[in-house]
Amino acid sequence: MVTNNSPVYLDYGATTPIDPRVWEVMLPYFKENFGNPASTHRFGQKAESGLEKARRSIAEGIGARPEQIIFTSGATESDNLALRGSAFAGRAKRGANHIVISGVEHDAISQTAEQLAQLHNFDLDIVAPDEFGQISAMAVAELIREDTALVSIIMANNEVGTINPIAEIAKVCKKFGVPLHTDAVQAGAYLPIDVEVLGVDMLSLGAHKFYGPKGVGVLYLREKEILSSMQTGGGHEHNLRAGTQNTAYIVGMAKAYELIQSEMEERTNNLQEKRDAIITGVLNRIADCKLSGHPSERLPNHASFIIKGVDGNALLMHLDSKGFSCSSGSACKTGDPKPSEVLLAMNLDPIWALGSLRITVGIHTSQEEIQQFLDVLPEAVEALRIVEAA
Ligand SMILES: *Cc1c(COP(=O)(O)O)cnc(C)c1O
Repeated sequence: MVTNNSPVYLDYGATTPIDPRVWEVMLPYFKENFGNPASTHRFGQKAESGLEKARRSIAEGIGARPEQIIFTSGATESDNLALRGSAFAGRAKRGANHIVISGVEHDAISQTAEQLAQLHNFDLDIVAPDEFGQISAMAVAELIREDTALVSIIMANNEVGTINPIAEIAKVCKKFGVPLHTDAVQAGAYLPIDVEVLGVDMLSLGAHKFYGPKGVGVLYLREKEILSSMQTGGGHEHNLRAGTQNTAYIVGMAKAYELIQSEMEERTNNLQEKRDAIITGVLNRIADCKLSGHPSERLPNHASFIIKGVDGNALLMHLDSKGFSCSSGSACKTGDPKPSEVLLAMNLDPIWALGSLRITVGIHTSQEEIQQFLDVLPEAVEALRIVEAA
């Protein structure tokens, strides 16, 4: 039995621990290689060499050129830079005042787009997903206008795990001459990324979703002209993102990305098996419970459910007290339970969507841990349903 001393982590979609092999390559950049990569002397050169090697590695990893890679402080910043930078560049260059995003974006996209609409008078259109949380190229095409500055569609959703047909969406955007950004933060941790195959103009990645450090990310940018810089200062990152680079973290991110690529097949098989054990196990054990998101086109480590008549947050707390750390799709405020925007956009019944549960496994999750979780879940759901019925 799991005790409070050995909690089981089932929330790898929120973050992952740093791989020891990543940590190892980071260390010298906190010590002897501490120089500022912009300095001309040998200390600077050492840091710059690590920085540029990391840039080449990530560029190669996603089928890009090194000059198309911008290092940021994380995926949230990459998303902000992509949206704000291309909205303002589109307005300045072509009088474009319209933005298209989807109804299943991460807050880093949806809140940024909302602010661009409210504070900066951009028109915002939101593409509705289907019942699986998937966005079709046709639905995107219907909303593109002559004055569209950019389209941003998530590659794989964090709440329900659904993978979107980004290459098809890119073809539509290209036809209209509108830049396409994709938030590939979840997708990039599990699926191969090739920006040429995808055909996107901008793409965000964040290291801590793939066993790298927190607080560092990438924005891929096809052409400089698409973007205005949003943070001004020195000429770092091709004049598009000022600020001394976090060399140690960037070097760690590149190593983490190399590892997921070289181990992808092995990891995917391992994760899928565990994911499917959870999906089957939960659906067999819990009445009035459905899988949320796409049944097959979903992230290999991602199982998500909606459970009728249960408060998702209460369920999470209950499970945590039993030693299992999971997540819910819903961003409930205490006393004001509301299903998440993503689940509502999918048109799910709010009575079901309130009881959302996300289990995301990692390479170290054991079959034994999954079995223990499946043993505990029915009691937890029953206890909460009784409280609510009373
Ligand atoms: C985690 C995540 C982000 C934001 O990452 P931060 O590390 O918080 O900046 C953005 N988009 C998606 C899809 C994510 O999963």
